[in-house]
Amino acid sequence: MKTAFSLLLQEYVDPFELDYEDCRTFQIVCPVCKEPIFKVSRKIDDKATDYFSHYRQDKTLNEQCELRVNRIPTERIEETRSESRNQKLVLFLGVFQDIIWENEYSKTNIKKAKQRYFQLCRSRLFSSFNKYQLQNYRVIVKDKNEILDMFKESLENLYENLEDFKSNFALNIQMEFAYDFFQHLLAGHSKANFFFLLNHAYILYLDKLEKESKHSELHTWEQVMFDYLCRFLKTQNEKKRMNLMNRMGEYKIISPYTHEEIDLFIMFGSQLGYHAFGILLRIPYLEILQKQLKDRDPGTLHHHH
Ligand SMILES: [Zn+2]
Repeated sequence: MKTAFSLLLQEYVDPFELDYEDCRTFQIVCPVCKEPIFKVSRKIDDKATDYFSHYRQDKTLNEQCELRVNRIPTERIEETRSESRNQKLVLFLGVFQDIIWENEYSKTNIKKAKQRYFQLCRSRLFSSFNKYQLQNYRVIVKDKNEILDMFKESLENLYENLEDFKSNFALNIQMEFAYDFFQHLLAGHSKANFFFLLNHAYILYLDKLEKESKHSELHTWEQVMFDYLCRFLKTQNEKKRMNLMNRMGEYKIISPYTHEEIDLFIMFGSQLGYHAFGILLRIPYLEILQKQLKDRDPGTLHHHH
């Protein structure tokens, strides 16, 4: 059959999107009888074809299901998808802040992170900078491809390889969830969560610079950035903070990414973006769904073979 249902995602999926191993991870079942199925790739008349097949070799079952699966209307598939996406957003939003604290820090650095977080929260200047970022992202967020390109750019900047993401499908799923989630954070009622995200992006960027500075791995401009960001955090004086930001704007560098001349303040904005997207792409969306699935019906997890 050409359409399957993922118990984990609560959505219909196509065979060409998945790898064989994904069927297990995403708990892929027959939409009709809910039996586990697996992906088959065959060459028919020299053309590669992907489809799903039941584990049970019961011919009548196969044929009956096939017939009924073929009759699932496209509108129903789309409707299930958008309903399920909304439910997932609500689920992710409910655990968002806890997950970030848990996911991004270790026992050894969480205390420092919390201090830094509250120092940032106290800065009115940083919160107006966040508001300005919010406006910027609101303009581009509707262009999904643009955002997905930015995600890829972030991953290239933050990771040397992408082995953390188990399969292409898993990485695509992370990007899809991160996109849906990002879109939601930019909506009016979720502003606090967007600011929360950017505060953490600041902390993680500072952490990275700090670590690399200990191993003397920083370029000159990164060293200067590190120095400004530390001072920005430490001072409680907003005039001094304003002064630091202005001086960042006057410091010119050649961007290692585009080879154009930019200032440190612009660079600061794009680094914050990379780290914010990194956070969104690292949220363990699938684990959250698995946990929900387990809580809802303890039986389904052992359903697959
Ligand atoms: Zn079936």
